Amino acid sequence: MGIIIDWVFPKKCLGCDVNGNYLCSKCQKEIKSLGVSYDDKRLEGRIGLFKYDGITREIIRMIKFDFVGDAIKEIGNWMVAALKKDYPNVVATWRKEKYVMIPVPLHWRRENWRGFNQSAELAKVIGDKLKIEVNKDLMIRKKYTKSQALRQRGQKSSNVEGAFKIIGKIPKKIIIFDDVWTSGATIKSMIKILPEKTKVWVLTLCSGR
Ligand SMILES: [Zn+2]
Repeated sequence: MGIIIDWVFPKKCLGCDVNGNYLCSKCQKEIKSLGVSYDDKRLEGRIGLFKYDGITREIIRMIKFDFVGDAIKEIGNWMVAALKKDYPNVVATWRKEKYVMIPVPLHWRRENWRGFNQSAELAKVIGDKLKIEVNKDLMIRKKYTKSQALRQRGQKSSNVEGAFKIIGKIPKKIIIFDDVWTSGATIKSMIKILPEKTKVWVLTLCSGR
């Protein structure tokens, strides 16, 4: 399968078109890394690894349609390297205190159509490498919302209000994981329904700020 896919779609860097990887090492270095944000009182902290613009926007678009899964694997490994390098203390805390990673669920209609949830797949790669438990069966998305591209600006927050439902036992310490943080409305509406004492970190591949 891999050989055929490579032949039909040769792997090229999204940034500079050089063959070999989805993101070459030169372009990796040019992507701006962001620090930990403490912008929401409900959170222990939030890590948006990379700035959401240009190449990272293309990466997000690509992993949504990565039916082979090798782009997700490559990007997941890149995230793991960045976490180990830039946030060793946070990662150590997550491991020591047994944080459980919960990927933001997709509505079943969208997941069926796409065939997978890109955030859950990425979380799996990261959890495996960092030895952090991942559980995607604790919450569901009960409300079907239009994709971001079809939505009007400013419409997002009302759209995701009440979108999630808890269906499992929420661990005391969790990391909510998603591909991108823009307004944060989606993740905030997830946090709203969590037990008050739950300690929450947020980790995303990209962040608008
Ligand atoms: Zn490149």
